[in-house]
Amino acid sequence: MLRGPFQMRLEEPSLRSAGPPAAEVRCGGFRVVFDEGEPSVRLVPGERRLSQAITAAVVQGLSDAPALLAEALRVHAPARPYDVVEVTLAPGELTHGEASSLGTGCIRLSLGEQTPVEHAVSIARHEALHLLLASSLRGGERWNDPELAFADWIVRGIESGRDSRLPRFHAPLPQLLEPVARSRLDVQQQLAAVASAPGAARKYFGEPLFAELQRLDSQSDRAAVEQRQLWVVEAALGTHYLETAGRLHLEDGDGLIPIVLDDWLADYEEYSRAVANPPSGAGNLWRLSESGWSRDPVVRLSVAAQALQADDHCHFRGDRFTHAAEPVIWKNRGRIRLPLRAREARPRPPPIHGFRAVLREVEAPQAMALVEQAARAGAHLFEARVLWPRILSRLLAANLPAPATQPMAVPLVQLVDSGHGSAAQRAFEEWKAAAAALRAVVGAHAVHVPRIAEPQDAATLADMPRAPASVQLVHASPPSAADLLAARQLAARRPVRGALFRDHLDGGRAYERLPDLDAPLDPRYRDDVWLSASRLPERLEDLPGLVDEATKDGRLTTPVSHLLAMIAIGLEECHYPRPR
Ligand SMILES: [Zn+2]
Repeated sequence: MLRGPFQMRLEEPSLRSAGPPAAEVRCGGFRVVFDEGEPSVRLVPGERRLSQAITAAVVQGLSDAPALLAEALRVHAPARPYDVVEVTLAPGELTHGEASSLGTGCIRLSLGEQTPVEHAVSIARHEALHLLLASSLRGGERWNDPELAFADWIVRGIESGRDSRLPRFHAPLPQLLEPVARSRLDVQQQLAAVASAPGAARKYFGEPLFAELQRLDSQSDRAAVEQRQLWVVEAALGTHYLETAGRLHLEDGDGLIPIVLDDWLADYEEYSRAVANPPSGAGNLWRLSESGWSRDPVVRLSVAAQALQADDHCHFRGDRFTHAAEPVIWKNRGRIRLPLRAREARPRPPPIHGFRAVLREVEAPQAMALVEQAARAGAHLFEARVLWPRILSRLLAANLPAPATQPMAVPLVQLVDSGHGSAAQRAFEEWKAAAAALRAVVGAHAVHVPRIAEPQDAATLADMPRAPASVQLVHASPPSAADLLAARQLAARRPVRGALFRDHLDGGRAYERLPDLDAPLDPRYRDDVWLSASRLPERLEDLPGLVDEATKDGRLTTPVSHLLAMIAIGLEECHYPRPR
């Protein structure tokens, strides 16, 4: 019954004014569901009063969230990460909300019968932002964790849209930030002092924020006052961190706000459990060839290999690896993070120059000799994904010392069952055997060999939670239009480094029926071919020969060659959707 007028009001500018409700019904609450993307409202039986303005406000808040996220983080907001919004009505005017990204995602709100319309807008927007962060950033569910005050600060900061009226913090920073509050409770305890011990509160919050908190103070509804005060503190903190992260902006437009926020969230989690120092701006951005981020040749080449694969679609020209055009690395507390975002498709020097450049800054004659050896016989013109297995197999065979790092996330090879289960199962066995053979010969580096996952159909894959690392899809047959479409749709939402099809791409016939789709999230994405191997490596010293044979035509072929192309030692890959 609310449906008709309710959908019309989405464009109504007067929505936010808390004017007299146009229509009122009796119910216990309502659910917002999405039929073919369009929101519609279903009432739940009950006796509380609900005005139409409130239902409209909730939908407005939900629809405001993606643009706010895109603006604050300079990422492209992901598809709606929730399927249901449940609203319960209660007495009074307080609002509560919680969000969960489990399953298809759910938002639960509790609104008072007297809740002002603008508060209904903001609570819905707030919970939607939690879920958008959880689905687009690598911190995942932690962005929904009510125990992590930092996640809430960032959400409040995004909500406030960097409002210039919010108090800012200036050096010397107030006690609230040095060291930063460990929890919401920390902040709430200090808020009690605003009225009772203003001197202490002024020191804790700093003058500008303290003045704002005092302005909000009043004798009326205490709970509402404290809630509003807490929100202002959280919005000020969130804005502070968003603005600090924003200063790391690079000249090529490659904003790195999400990677920094994710790192700070991870730091904050440890800090809130008292096992680490508070998050700070201590991380650093480096250009690929700069020496400061690591002196280990295997790590440096691993990072270069994955960064350069993102440019494999470029036309290769020239031999100068110019500093300003190099990919960047973020390093914080010893952890090396490689942001993988699509870069401008301009001519780039062949990848061999990138591999040489990362070694030039450190003393690594043996690794340099192996790189040159791998690039012989025309391979100096190969793409990064093809040249890297040739280099890596030599590094491994030469037993070059490499850091004994446990990977945070091992790449995943996901077999796709396109409806002929037995073929997918055979392909799975083949890939599993290749990975096992590789693990058996590479010794301590076995932990870096990609994991091979049991075949799943495309629909199941689309609903599975996001894997911690980028996924390589592997099909047991040449591409059908349906396979391609499913792979591309998945790649637009999740980090997918490619879709491999058996034997050939069927002359590209399936491509003619493909609709326009969003760009893949992982810039390394490609539809490619895999071929069965005639033999698997049995000894480490055989590996370079086998890989050279598999890549002799400048393409990856066997499972072993594809697996090596994915291996990266000593880094974490990060994926963030680029803004449009
Ligand atoms: Zn929250």
